Amino acid sequence: MKLRAAPVDPDTLPEDLGVDWSRWADGRAYRLKRKKDFPNVNPGHARTAAENAAVKMGKVVRTVRDKMIPEKLIWIQFADGEVSAGQPCPRCGSRKLLNLHAGVVRCPQCNAQLLLSNQGLEAIEPEPEGADESASPAKRARLTQRLLALQSVHLQLSGEPSHHELYTGWAEQDGSRFIVLAEFDPSEDGEDLVSETIEERIREVKVLPAHLFEGLVDVNELAVRPDADWDLIL
Ligand SMILES: [Zn+2]
Repeated sequence: MKLRAAPVDPDTLPEDLGVDWSRWADGRAYRLKRKKDFPNVNPGHARTAAENAAVKMGKVVRTVRDKMIPEKLIWIQFADGEVSAGQPCPRCGSRKLLNLHAGVVRCPQCNAQLLLSNQGLEAIEPEPEGADESASPAKRARLTQRLLALQSVHLQLSGEPSHHELYTGWAEQDGSRFIVLAEFDPSEDGEDLVSETIEERIREVKVLPAHLFEGLVDVNELAVRPDADWDLIL
């Protein structure tokens, strides 16, 4: 019988988790395995460590939890920088960038490999035209869809309950983290919000790229908070 090893307390490990992240920094995508490639900690800590390592190397990294085995596997890909679609190379200003594969481009002039980000302010959805006061069933369905399109949605009730309930938290989509604000009608019976009642109660959703809040909200901190701290996880 094989005993399951207890997870390591990440506070007992160095910031890089004792991992040499540079060996995966050649620009290719790698799948890393808990206990083999990084210590036996929540993969969220490994992603945070990879992000810290990227900063130290003057690089950026995209990290994603594996969809099938999120407790054990992460995918990482380092790059020289990040560029928004339509923008020039941040390193040499070249306007010509070549698509390497999904979400990654290469600058033929300085050879920089860049993650393509759709995360500038243009990523924030504009208010739909003629947004009506009360949430119609169609609007509620659309907002629910927007919320459920995200992965790892973690929300907590924010502030004192009033005529609307505001939930705030974080989520992921395509390997990027987002700050999520969602407003709900309170339940008539004072019942807690659960996934089954989202669509009948939802009023508004805002999904904001987490990097816009750099220095203000540490989404990496949020991502490693225990599940018990959250009111709703989707
Ligand atoms: Zn360049």
